[in-house]
Amino acid sequence: EQTLKKAFGMKNQLLEVCVPFPAQGHVNPMLKLAKILHYRGFHITFVNTEYNHKRLLKSRGPDSLNALPSFQFKTIPDGLPESDLDATQDVPSLCASTQKHCLAPFRNLLSKLNDTSSSNVPPVTCIVSDGIMSFTLDAAAELGIPDVLFWTPSACGFMGYAQYRRLIEKGLTPLKDESYLTNGHLDTIIDWIPGMKGIRLRDLPSFVATTDPDDILLNFAMVEAERAQRASAVILNTFDALEHEVLEGLSTMYPSICSIGPLQLLVNQIPDNNYKLIGSNLWKEEEGCIEWLDKREPNSVVYVNFGSVTVMTRNQLIEFAWGLANSKQAFLWIIRPDLVRGDSAVLPPEFLEETKERCLLANWCSQEEVLSHPSIGGFLTHSGWNSTLESVCGGVPMISWPFFGEQQTNCRYTCIEWGIGMEIESNAKRGKIESLVRELMVGEKGQKLKKKAIEWKKLAEEAISPNGSSFVNLDKIINQVLLASA
Ligand code: UDP
Repeated sequence: EQTLKKAFGMKNQLLEVCVPFPAQGHVNPMLKLAKILHYRGFHITFVNTEYNHKRLLKSRGPDSLNALPSFQFKTIPDGLPESDLDATQDVPSLCASTQKHCLAPFRNLLSKLNDTSSSNVPPVTCIVSDGIMSFTLDAAAELGIPDVLFWTPSACGFMGYAQYRRLIEKGLTPLKDESYLTNGHLDTIIDWIPGMKGIRLRDLPSFVATTDPDDILLNFAMVEAERAQRASAVILNTFDALEHEVLEGLSTMYPSICSIGPLQLLVNQIPDNNYKLIGSNLWKEEEGCIEWLDKREPNSVVYVNFGSVTVMTRNQLIEFAWGLANSKQAFLWIIRPDLVRGDSAVLPPEFLEETKERCLLANWCSQEEVLSHPSIGGFLTHSGWNSTLESVCGGVPMISWPFFGEQQTNCRYTCIEWGIGMEIESNAKRGKIESLVRELMVGEKGQKLKKKAIEWKKLAEEAISPNGSSFVNLDKIINQVLLASA
């Protein structure tokens, strides 16, 4: 505790505005960073969209938002029509809408915050915003204050997005027609990306696999990655040992790149329990998961969760169900209410009967807690970056079923570079799922992956220790960028 506080110093009159992209995998790491900065002494204004603010109130209650003095929540509209509060918002629409509609209300919010006659909060001295909320750069420039962009994907994922322009210029994407999805084109080796070796086109963030030159996500990611050039610094929730070469590559492309993760381990160093009261889960956590895990043997449970955005067909759900059942392993399976595309996730009664002694199904859980529970032996994941990093922090090996975006890149690194996972193809059938789950939990390969996962876990812990790379980098960002304007 002492070290954390001492190294961070105490400054009380600086108002930091944090602006996450309005999706679960972005709000979570931003909230962690905001807590760390608050602990250091910054006043924090955390800006959610109105939609997500309502969801937080629903899932966590108003008290959870008032747990810390000088840590306030404000909102801006996302520009989309009202929708069902329990549903995952459509990602392309959300990207297009935030890019187009958020700057004006954000400007208004900043001017209200800066009207210090009406409150006892100091004027805004710096902004930390999500890498894909880069409209904030314009607002920061108008005020002449620093804007640090926090890219919440892995460094390898960010690097992938940062290559989109070149991939288009080289004619590698968009694809000429649908046949390019299966004719071997996606296996083209891309050997010119700084810090990346042996990478295939299919391992890069998946929006390259489009035939539409106007594809929203392809263009959005390209533009946002380019705008990061203007940031006071770009920070990433990763650590040097894990992604050293890619980070070096990124440093040749952007003025200031800093790895400051895993933020989860840094935030866990804060001893004050009030910080734990502020949460960011947009779904209500189901109770009982940890108690159920407490009754299980160490390393005996497969944890299955595909994050907050992934959707699958009913057939895929059924194949996963029987694959898990036939593996004979115990499992905790989180099935988000809107996981199955256009359908409710109904599982066959025979499956429920067969697995009732060794399976727990739930809608949503506290994943970090689950992944650091000793009973968890493996993770069947969509390889979202937060999930991957949480798995690394828990020393848990993975089976990777990437869905979209940089999850493909994370899968490649998880399986090939870091040696802590096995990939499963997107249309895998129950037999394959069964054998991979067994291999992960009781096979020789699984043992190897586990050993490696523990090694990475130790390196993650080193990175956030007082002389560790992430700890030092974070201190540098605070002192040289965020405090520089004060
Ligand atoms: N998460 C959670 N409980 C769940 C499912 C997900 O707490 O039941 C959290 C998870 O810990 C992670 C985030 O939601 O921090 C998901 O982010 P990720 O980058 O893994 O995937 P995304 O949801 O963005 O696809």
